[in-house]
Amino acid sequence: MAISGDRMFLMLKKLGFVRLSTYEGEKKGAAIIADEVKSITGCDATIEPFMAPHYEIKKVKFEITAPFAETIEATGYGFSGNTAPEGLEAEMVYMEGFDEIDLAKIRGKIVFFTGGIGYANFEKLCKAGPVGFVCTCGTFLDRDEDTDMDQRMLRAKHLEYGKMPGVVIKMKDALKLIPRHPTRARITLEQTEGEAESQNVICEVKGSEFPDEVIVYTAHYDSVEYSEGYFDNGSGSVMLLEMLRHYTENPPKRTVRFIWCGSEERGLLGSKDYVTKHEAELDAIRLCINIDMAGPILGKDAAVITGEESLCHAISFLYKELGHSMSVEQNTYSSDSIPFADKGIPGVNFMRRAAQGSSLIHCRHDVIDILSGESLEYTTNFVREFSDRVVNACFFPIPKKMPDNMVDKIDKYLLKKK
Ligand SMILES: [Zn+2]
Repeated sequence: MAISGDRMFLMLKKLGFVRLSTYEGEKKGAAIIADEVKSITGCDATIEPFMAPHYEIKKVKFEITAPFAETIEATGYGFSGNTAPEGLEAEMVYMEGFDEIDLAKIRGKIVFFTGGIGYANFEKLCKAGPVGFVCTCGTFLDRDEDTDMDQRMLRAKHLEYGKMPGVVIKMKDALKLIPRHPTRARITLEQTEGEAESQNVICEVKGSEFPDEVIVYTAHYDSVEYSEGYFDNGSGSVMLLEMLRHYTENPPKRTVRFIWCGSEERGLLGSKDYVTKHEAELDAIRLCINIDMAGPILGKDAAVITGEESLCHAISFLYKELGHSMSVEQNTYSSDSIPFADKGIPGVNFMRRAAQGSSLIHCRHDVIDILSGESLEYTTNFVREFSDRVVNACFFPIPKKMPDNMVDKIDKYLLKKK
């Protein structure tokens, strides 16, 4: 049976709900994928659980206490800790950036800055010693009726530097607030911080000639809060199912293993857990084919190669041979191929990049309307063409090595190096 865009599109609709790491939606997503694996192969998928960070905000309040009194809508920053039940009141300062001059004036205060906070700035912040922080999300254009606030959390790497209670407010509120020069504020935050179960869904089709040579296919199926995650990454998840169907019907010479990764949005946690738990099997894995975001009606296919440059040339020859419009580059891609690449396994990331202005992700506007079965089919057909060539090659054509320039990028991505 040929690759079918209609079938993928129907399946994508079934995955259209919030699939947030460690929550019910993610479990339900895993169960739907596992059911489909069973219906395609007749075999049960393996659901492999792992623990991921889990927080719940019980109470959050952000108030200006001087020179005027006002409560401003806020969400709590996950894993940023708790205040005393009556809140944490202190002087508040607005900080324009993270330069020495900005950081010099915040010790003992509640600091207000715009945007989110990466690891490097959080390290600076902790050294500068504020007692709490307020940051912003969204844009001045946001309307309450169709915008949700970002749900952010401090990750393990942040917490190596320190911890202080933080809240997020809307940029449009910040724009009104700061010109009024608030001088004191109170943050009240109560949350639980711990771990809960997430899971990878795994299945494989054994190779007929080279069963000990394995090609791994990855796609994350989790989404973020408020996002039904059609584009990111229900699309890649259904493409993996279609590839599984392809190899179930056309037995491969090499073993093909499919991993639908959980908790990618929390920092590639599913793929990181897989390479840790399956250390002994990594030797056999020759290549990781990862799909993260495809299907936009208007867009362009791309391949990002985390491996030798020769692999870029191979893909470029192939798309020229097939007349398939796409681009290819050698780089890292922030997705589940990284933990494999970190173990020396070359990665090919396939995606269809949306035309500018034609899509949004990580919010309620990651909708199915901007995607089509036709686009899913177009990209999947290329993935199948490439995949068939390597899976069924007489001799596996991709050397298992990671060039120095990619090792350097991977190390920087994984913060092994600054
Ligand atoms: Zn993604």
